[in-house]
Amino acid sequence: MTRVVTTIAEVRQIVRAWRAAGQTVGLVPTMGYLHEGHQSLIERSVADNDHTVVSVFVNPTQFGPNEDLESYPRDLEHDRALVEATGADVVFHPTPAEMYYPNRRTTVHVDELGSELCGKSRPIHFDGVCLVVSKLLNIVTPDRAYFGQKDAQQLLIVRRMVRDLSFGVEIVGCPIVREADGLAKSSRNTYLSDEERAAAVVLSRSLAAGRAVLEGGERRASAVRQAVLDVLAAEPLAAPEYVEVVDTDDVNPVETVEGEALVAIAVRIGGTRLIDNFFFTPEV
Ligand code: AMP
Repeated sequence: MTRVVTTIAEVRQIVRAWRAAGQTVGLVPTMGYLHEGHQSLIERSVADNDHTVVSVFVNPTQFGPNEDLESYPRDLEHDRALVEATGADVVFHPTPAEMYYPNRRTTVHVDELGSELCGKSRPIHFDGVCLVVSKLLNIVTPDRAYFGQKDAQQLLIVRRMVRDLSFGVEIVGCPIVREADGLAKSSRNTYLSDEERAAAVVLSRSLAAGRAVLEGGERRASAVRQAVLDVLAAEPLAAPEYVEVVDTDDVNPVETVEGEALVAIAVRIGGTRLIDNFFFTPEV
């Protein structure tokens, strides 16, 4: 039976007992409303570790003032059932007051990597992510923590933070899980009307066009971006926020794809902001 634990002290106590028995621990941080994308991370953790903790916490510090903190979908009973069916031991579901003291003064900031892509329209987002991930790593002290490539910039930033601050954890990146038509699974897909849901397939289609251009030998980022933008432009409900080709070290835009690159997009479909991406490494 999967336990739902709401206090930091209780999670620490459970993990301490596992550690005393010489057992390994995986952590899957989420904001809940779990779907098959989250499930793939949990499955991987259950396969790799003796025990798995899934955190379900809609983290207020990573939402800007006009974002969807209040309306973000929540369903703890559904989440608990999915976690249990997937074989994880504990759902850690703290309140915001349990996670954040009113007089906290410490921030965690990874320089530069958070200023491009989603950082442009969400300036405080990645500091909030780094803060909550740091706290979760300190609370659960996992051997491994699992993150989806769906949030590629987040994955790169968390990897860098863990390296820079010498967290003793292995960060495991997991592939994007998609709907049958290619749309990346996301808790925010529930915001889409039927018409918008049909239009949202344009994100993965546009990235396929960008990938085809790269696989055809094109190395100019401008040509890749244009191929993606052309497909997005054909969908009247799609308003692109960014289409970028960046390096995977510092998340800076590149002119020419020479090393590993991340092609990432954010697109508004109606009122909903969706993201998608792929990594590409040119053959030498
Ligand atoms: P979230 O609940 O949206 O904060 O996501 C929690 C974790 O699940 C993050 O590491 C996400 O990258 C990952 N994730 C979300 N959607 C997907 C997906 N479609 N495929 C793979 N991982 C995902």
